[in-house]
Amino acid sequence: MKRELGGKGAGLAEMSRVGLDVPAGFTLSTKLCALYAEADKEGKGSQLLEKAGAVMKEVEMGVKFIEKQMRRPIPRGSSSKTSKDGELPLLLSIRSGAAVSMPGMMDTVLNLGLNDVIVEGFCSSPTTSEAERRFCLDAYRRLLDMFGDVVLSIPRVDFESALTEMKRARGVATDAELTADDLRELCEKYKRVYVDRGKTFPSDPETQLRKSIEAVFASWKNPRAVKYREINKDCAGLEGTAVNVQAMVFGNRDDDSCSGVLFTRDPSTGEKKLYGEYLVNAQGEDVVAGIRTPENIDQLAVQFPRCHKTLVDWCDRLENHFWDVMDIEFTVESNKLWILQCRSGKRIGAAAVKIACDMVDEGLITVPRAVLMVEPRHLDQLLRPRFDPGDLAGDADVVAKGLPASPGAAVGTIVFTAADAEAAKKRGVDCVLIRVETSAEDVGGMHASCGILTARGGMTSHAAVVARGWGKPCVVGCGDMFVNERDKTVRFQGCDAKFKEGDAISLDGDRGLVIRGSRALIASIADNGDLARVMRWTDETRRIQVLANADTPADAAIARANGAEGIGLVRTEHQFFSSPERLRAMRSMVLASDDAARTEACDRMLPFQREDFEGIFTAMAGLSVCVRLLDPPLHEFLPPKKSQELDRVARDVASNAGEKDVGKILARAERMREANPMLGMRGCRLGIQHPSVTAMQSRAIFEAAKACADKGIRVKPQIMVPLVATAAEFSHQANVIRDVHAEVFAGVEALPFEVGVMVETPRAALVADKLVRAGAQFLSLGTNDLTQMTFGFSRDDVGPILKTYRENGILTNDPFERIDELGVGLLIENCAMMARAAVRELNEQWQEDQSKPKGDKTKVKIGVCGEHGGDPASVRYFASDRVALDYVSCSAHRVIAARLAAAQAAARELDAL
Ligand code: PEP
Ligand code: MG
Repeated sequence: MKRELGGKGAGLAEMSRVGLDVPAGFTLSTKLCALYAEADKEGKGSQLLEKAGAVMKEVEMGVKFIEKQMRRPIPRGSSSKTSKDGELPLLLSIRSGAAVSMPGMMDTVLNLGLNDVIVEGFCSSPTTSEAERRFCLDAYRRLLDMFGDVVLSIPRVDFESALTEMKRARGVATDAELTADDLRELCEKYKRVYVDRGKTFPSDPETQLRKSIEAVFASWKNPRAVKYREINKDCAGLEGTAVNVQAMVFGNRDDDSCSGVLFTRDPSTGEKKLYGEYLVNAQGEDVVAGIRTPENIDQLAVQFPRCHKTLVDWCDRLENHFWDVMDIEFTVESNKLWILQCRSGKRIGAAAVKIACDMVDEGLITVPRAVLMVEPRHLDQLLRPRFDPGDLAGDADVVAKGLPASPGAAVGTIVFTAADAEAAKKRGVDCVLIRVETSAEDVGGMHASCGILTARGGMTSHAAVVARGWGKPCVVGCGDMFVNERDKTVRFQGCDAKFKEGDAISLDGDRGLVIRGSRALIASIADNGDLARVMRWTDETRRIQVLANADTPADAAIARANGAEGIGLVRTEHQFFSSPERLRAMRSMVLASDDAARTEACDRMLPFQREDFEGIFTAMAGLSVCVRLLDPPLHEFLPPKKSQELDRVARDVASNAGEKDVGKILARAERMREANPMLGMRGCRLGIQHPSVTAMQSRAIFEAAKACADKGIRVKPQIMVPLVATAAEFSHQANVIRDVHAEVFAGVEALPFEVGVMVETPRAALVADKLVRAGAQFLSLGTNDLTQMTFGFSRDDVGPILKTYRENGILTNDPFERIDELGVGLLIENCAMMARAAVRELNEQWQEDQSKPKGDKTKVKIGVCGEHGGDPASVRYFASDRVALDYVSCSAHRVIAARLAAAQAAARELDAL
């Protein structure tokens, strides 16, 4: 339902189904937005609704429905009057709402339906009080402002300056202090803005409605919404925004009215209590904008006791209905409660695991649902480093305290504009964005910064909501901070220093502290048991293994601590960059003039490899470790062409065995350069060209395994042959490996090992059965190269192409980040299917062949070791019934999130039962 009606539309439909009081309305689907965008490309978008009579007929039916439900008419025609003297007609709100929440990115028009005649009719009625007159004129000036901005692209600053000027002239600080007469004058000024800009405000409410719907559809493509979708991967593939047309209810009607936002549980701690705020005599936008300091939601029980009681009851009903924490917008109009919106509440990591555990304990949700409720990014947040809490007590460097809107520690240099934050990110500089308050225009910079600090705003302000959604540390409502955005400086009350752009600052989002300088970080918070419980559920639920990619004993130890069940990829080449001696040995091998020189270089490399393998086997005792043979093009180990460094390396090589002529060595280095190295002498091609390299690596692996076994450490070595395209390539390398194995274990009990294929070429995926028949005991999909070769995109140069493709909607995701299910996925599915069919056939033959000893039954594991093995969405795909791989392998720090994602694939299926 969300895909078509958007989150807001779907939430409204559900709430009215459950029986809550929602202002009557209807929703125009996201599909219509897509049609609008299509027509707009041909310059016909603005006439789409006008021309599409059927759509406007449905809109008209919807309007009649609203009138019937609310028992009041909506004004029609440009000279329409109020229905009864002194009664304001029904007004409408036109709001955007995509399937994924995009806070504040698209447009909204409120108070729609007013015009001069209606306003005058109402205001001049003898039964209209002064307060009501003020309210009506306030609604009208808001409509003139919003309609002008959203529909007619009149710069908002025109209206804002008129308002500021009026407040200055009257000597008042806030809009609320302006009288009815002031507002009447302001409306006249706003109308003059229209004239000055050569625009006309349509007095006919029907025209207002049509144009507003079109404008909200068009706002799907405004630059800030486009940017937000670029940043938020969840938005990939969305068709457009829905448009919700609803009867207006007024939190700014009188002092018995208010507008508020709340979460059904605390989104920072997970505590089960209403969490939110409201403003008396205000519209909802005033609460989120953080213009006035709102009241805590607890106060509602005192000021609006009846509404508070109903609200508590409705919150329970919503949690029970949606099985989730809800984020709610409500309005009280003259003591009558209305719910305007509900959606799943964004929460931070610690809250997410607590809520999942609590809801299971309350009997509200099942374990599979709890597993689905925690997101992989929540675990990332929970495990992130933070400041030492003891260290900060009474610290003189703490210069201010605000509201802890989004937890975590941020350390960076100060920037004052979104553009500066984005520029800093491009330069690789961590920055903290400081603003008086943020708005939708700032999202790019907010995303680029590592922390956000605002002077204004509450816990549900724009900055707070957006930062929490991204898990970025954020402190808001820091009233003791004085920002001078023009000078790009900031001062803090009680602190003499003036901070300028580029100065270091630290933010403690857990406690709302602002700290001078770059504060040191310590390891993440201790788990109070909830995280362990959630992880136990994930491990019980998931059906595939999670292994890690690790190249050193230290990485292996981290992987194991994070729950990796083995190492799925050791990239051996990385081991040669850790010391100058290692690199020298490698370079001697690369530039060797003949086999003898290469063998000599390999002999120097062997101890380094053996030492590392021993360390990794020890760290992973009892678990499998899959080592990949040398893979990259060899020239990657050499300094740049014609560099002094290359001359030095050549001289160094000449001082060892083999060629002594530096010129010849340099010429050889030159000959090694390839036009297309990614498709050149790399992977198994290297091992076939120089079997001594494969032999050396195999020896290092087996000798390390033997040394560990001699110490009583259980080892399960696996050797993986990279970049295979044919079964014959694999067989060639497997024979070299088996020969070395026989040599190392000659005369002693041989340690078992497995040899398998790294499936990185489309051809390997297509002939997986042949690879199995050639003896591959596992197939590990190297989806980085497989994606490169399937798309024909160079991994190293694809950036600008992908940017253009995404801007033009040709690709919605980066296929190197999220697996391309349609194309690369088809190869993966084919690979798994063919390999399994070959295994079945081999075993049937084995069954029939009585002469074979037991234990020879073929088993082949199939998994992924490319970067996609750590991308939660891709992991869910690999673990789904459709592919059902045996494992994914990802970098050590992504293991925890991958365990959760793997469990979510199974949980989805269980939850659907
Ligand atoms: C791959 O290609 O997916 C892979 C893991 O290998 P590398 O990234 O080292 O090429
Ligand atoms: Mg690869």
